[in-house]
Amino acid sequence: MVIDHVSRGALLSSTLPDARGRFGEFGGRYVPEGLMAALLELEQTYALARADAQFRDELHELLRTRVGRPTLLHQVPRFAELLAVTGVRVYLKREDMTHTGAHKINNALGQGLLAKRMGKTRIIAETGAGQHGVAVATVCAMLGMTCVIYMGAHDMHRQASNVMRMTLLGAEVRPVETGSRRLKEAISESVRDWVSNLDTTHYLFGTSAGPAPYPLIVRDLQTVIGRETRLQILKSEGRLPDYLVACVGGGSNAIGLFHPFIDEPDVRLIGVEAAGLGVETGVHAATLSAGSPGEMDGAYSYLLQDDDGQVTPTHSIAAGLDYPGVGPELSYLKDIGRVTYRTATDAVALRGMHALTRTEGIIPALESAHAVGYVLELAERGDLPADSIVVLGLSGRGEKDLAIAAERPAG
Ligand SMILES: *Cc1c(COP(=O)(O)O)cnc(C)c1O
Repeated sequence: MVIDHVSRGALLSSTLPDARGRFGEFGGRYVPEGLMAALLELEQTYALARADAQFRDELHELLRTRVGRPTLLHQVPRFAELLAVTGVRVYLKREDMTHTGAHKINNALGQGLLAKRMGKTRIIAETGAGQHGVAVATVCAMLGMTCVIYMGAHDMHRQASNVMRMTLLGAEVRPVETGSRRLKEAISESVRDWVSNLDTTHYLFGTSAGPAPYPLIVRDLQTVIGRETRLQILKSEGRLPDYLVACVGGGSNAIGLFHPFIDEPDVRLIGVEAAGLGVETGVHAATLSAGSPGEMDGAYSYLLQDDDGQVTPTHSIAAGLDYPGVGPELSYLKDIGRVTYRTATDAVALRGMHALTRTEGIIPALESAHAVGYVLELAERGDLPADSIVVLGLSGRGEKDLAIAAERPAG
């Protein structure tokens, strides 16, 4: 099968960061001296694994048998009808149908295998929405590793079902009570743990951000989304899509979908960020749309900061998008003009969630619903040309968001 072949080619994608781990001016390694050796060990291990057919075969086999890849790409005709644009075809790339229900498992599994290769027995991770924590806890159970998850207390409250899942899977979930009690602080706590347990522990970072080599590793592991999409759309349409649309938090599902299409100038790549209550209100998480470059969480990239360079608080109805930073490769793709960034408010995301659910029987995660709602708005503004083919990255399923959706029913 062709998809098997491509999936196995998995990690051999073309664009690489430079020797300092930078995409253009973005990226790098802004970390305490004590972490440098661990990052270099990870970089070297990954460089060998990336070129090792046996590693790729093992990953491929587990993605097939345990994650459920390839995931479906299919049309959503009743949703497309809502757009009222002649001849438009909308496809969903169904990462919500993976085991554990979001794209995060693609990365967690790959890094879990890397950790084993390095002889580590313990995995730590940060989580925002809890999806990454669930994916990591699942992989740790599969591979027989100890698992500690750091999660902001605020996020634990709003994603209680995922906390229960992680605990059931055997992970220890440690609440983080500092600062805004969200993803950003959970990352800081994870780094603190890692520095004092380097011999035994791998820090399984959840998005395509952070210090090198994480942006490259996570990107490579997520490009399986875009590689499958490419084959699937060619099979059903005989041509590439006009639009790829994905939500952007740290950026991993977006870069995973976009990357295999970067050299295709006719494919428009649109990343949708969380506008929260509205970008103009200042209460949002639209890093690339409203931020500026600076240094945070080990890398130089776009971030939300005030005039003094202090990272500003964020808000999104979707916990997985509620982060003031973004990965360096997406920053680079903004500056060279290859990816367009747009935003969707909490209200637009909710509208997207309800619309897709009612027309197609698919409940998207609130994160993914930002991309869904954006496409509705694009069509309403008259900016979606007739006969367009649109692929929407459906990064995850909405079960974790039922309580939030129930409080704000369809209008
Ligand atoms: C975590 C998450 C996101 C945001 O993370 P990215 O790294 O930007 O992909 C988006 N959708 C879902 C369902 C998530 O769980």
